[in-house]
Amino acid sequence: MGAAGLKQHVIDPEVCIRCNTCEATCPIGAITHDDNNYVVDPEKCNFCMDCVAPCPTGSIDHWFAVERPFSLEEQFGWLELPPARVAPTVDALEDEASALLAEAHRGAGGKARAPASASKPRVNLFNRANPAVATVTGNIRITAPGASADVRHLILDFGTVAFPVLEGQSIGIVPPGSDAMRLYSIASARDGERPNTNNLALTVKRVVESRPEGEFRGVASNYLCDRAPGDTVGVIGPFGSTFLMPDDPDADILMICTGTGAAPFRGFTERRRRTSPNGRGRLHMFFGARSPNELPYFGPLKKVPATILTQELVFSREPGRPREYVQDRMRARAEDIVALLAKPALHVYICGLRGLEEGVDLALTEIGRAHNLDWLAMRDIMREEGRFHSETY
Ligand code: NAP
Repeated sequence: MGAAGLKQHVIDPEVCIRCNTCEATCPIGAITHDDNNYVVDPEKCNFCMDCVAPCPTGSIDHWFAVERPFSLEEQFGWLELPPARVAPTVDALEDEASALLAEAHRGAGGKARAPASASKPRVNLFNRANPAVATVTGNIRITAPGASADVRHLILDFGTVAFPVLEGQSIGIVPPGSDAMRLYSIASARDGERPNTNNLALTVKRVVESRPEGEFRGVASNYLCDRAPGDTVGVIGPFGSTFLMPDDPDADILMICTGTGAAPFRGFTERRRRTSPNGRGRLHMFFGARSPNELPYFGPLKKVPATILTQELVFSREPGRPREYVQDRMRARAEDIVALLAKPALHVYICGLRGLEEGVDLALTEIGRAHNLDWLAMRDIMREEGRFHSETY
């Protein structure tokens, strides 16, 4: 952990009027009080920001960068915010990551919530000033040799540095020579590519586009796709506290994705495969790509047993076949979808191209209408319950 260290949410005791609004608003019970102060439990707070807007004084809106979080007991004793152990500012990139993720989650139609059973994520451990240095230990092309899309499975090893992640979280990369950060979903399980390895995987598509003004090459994607084993990469994060997997072997999970949007679902699948291959819940994937050659992880996916994962692989540009998108296949599997929607422990995740969520909403609305279900109302309830998630770019 670098000098700027951990982010901690604190309440200014000099300004707070002890109105209890924050404690009543916090969805995960991270805020508590005694006779003296209202305080935030650093072990529980996931920076969801739900408490910030309702606070009438602004006393809630304080964020420390600390090397060691202030305990509840210390906070209960405060008369004012202390200067000790406090680094000057929280890196602005953290706010940039929150803004990027908030934008990516917009398609959920409201504020996202983590599944109730999800493990507690660690966020913002490394920032631009102190990135974790990871070594590339693998860079494998996962689209067929002749395919136009060059999609790579990158493995980043953290050596002796602790970089704890959960499936569904993202990391940030700032390519050399650029100021802008790009987020990439983690494509491996929390305990690494193989159990108990200190690494994580990314799914990166090399962006090269012909534009009227000339060829455009994505700075971060080309930087990552060009890394060779042994190269080092600065990693920021981890980020994301809502697009997380339920820690419930009985939960069915419907995963709808396009292209590299499959990244988090590879992590979900690996997690299930390792921890609860015989659980009652199953993973159900609708995955769209232009052709089998362009579908990331096409080969490895074929080896995942159907008892863990059902797969609907959908192709939009197969010669001699009509264009098909994931939402078209969902319509074709309406009966299966309706059966899934009837399950109280179903979680729905969408990941991929911006606009995908709109197509999925339309398909589910249509399916629902034919089966006496109001999908949009159901979606909003599921979101409130942490069972509906969308992450699109
Ligand atoms: P892509 O190859 O451009 O597209 C994948 C498939 O989706 C194609 O068959 C495409 O069909 C189809 N498609 C296009 N518009 C659609 C729509 N409105 N609804 C349903 N399907 C549609 O995908 P990609 O370039 O890999 O892009 C994946 C997206 O995932 C990117 O926006 C990326 O930012 C995002 N993402 C990436 C990560 C990551 O970690 N790398 C994580 C989360 C999200 P046609 O091309 O034939 O129209």
